[in-house]
Amino acid sequence: MNELAGAPSRNVVPGAYRGVAVTSVECDLDEESLERHFIGREAYRRTRFIVIRNGSQTAVAAVHKVSGDPLFSPITGLQLLVGPADCVYLEDPEVDTAIPTALAHAAASGAPDKRGVVVQGRYGHVSFIIDPSPLRVTVREVTPPYPAKLLDQVRRVLALAEHLPPIELVPDVVELDTLARSRRSESYLLPCRGGGVAVEGATTDYLDEHPDRREWTLIGCERSEQIHEWFYGERAPQVDICPWKRTGGTGAILAKCCLLESHIEVDDRRVIVPWGASLAQISEALTTLVDEWEPSWAPA
Ligand SMILES: [Zn+2]
Repeated sequence: MNELAGAPSRNVVPGAYRGVAVTSVECDLDEESLERHFIGREAYRRTRFIVIRNGSQTAVAAVHKVSGDPLFSPITGLQLLVGPADCVYLEDPEVDTAIPTALAHAAASGAPDKRGVVVQGRYGHVSFIIDPSPLRVTVREVTPPYPAKLLDQVRRVLALAEHLPPIELVPDVVELDTLARSRRSESYLLPCRGGGVAVEGATTDYLDEHPDRREWTLIGCERSEQIHEWFYGERAPQVDICPWKRTGGTGAILAKCCLLESHIEVDDRRVIVPWGASLAQISEALTTLVDEWEPSWAPA
């Protein structure tokens, strides 16, 4: 009967096609009392989980039915997934409860000390997460532009990611002018004017404008060096801004590189996307990272 036994015990969220019912009761919210209350009662065909409330108390249980075929079927078994001491009910109409990352975020900000968090979110839909433990993904990026593009794109993809486990982003964003200052020069060459970066006290040229050669320091990726060599017949002293080459850090890392043009790459469990990655490529990259790191999660 204990269907969830042996399953991963973190990041438990209902699967997309599992129904969550919400019921108020007057009995205690321990497993025995709930079994007495629910066993024998009919539940709707799609109902797999019941959020049970008694006043301000909330619990979550999984239920078994005689059959999943008829519209309603008697409940034959109940397993308490989280009891009232460890569970809260949050209301936040901004949260899309079909998105595991959104559930985990709501849990972390609304009830960080609880094992179970039920969220009544957008459209009034109710879902829950038990033992949230999002996969931490470090996003390596340089900025400007603002907002940091890759980080912003990842946030936008995650806001729609029904298929991914809960993910928490760890920004590792470095300012171009900070990188420039790491190598003092009277003259800098940046890849393009777009970002509007200028370093105080130094002249700044932009490679995409093919300026007259100066004794500058190139603040750019390997591709910029290649272009420099094409234009001027030699490479320039360089501060390599490539987020892919940035060292340090552990765990799941997502970075970008100007040398990639049309595909994503996996390098030692890190995933790299092209400089101009599309949202579809970023979605693919996140899916790949999840495959690499296999966070324990249970769409139950
Ligand atoms: Zn690169």
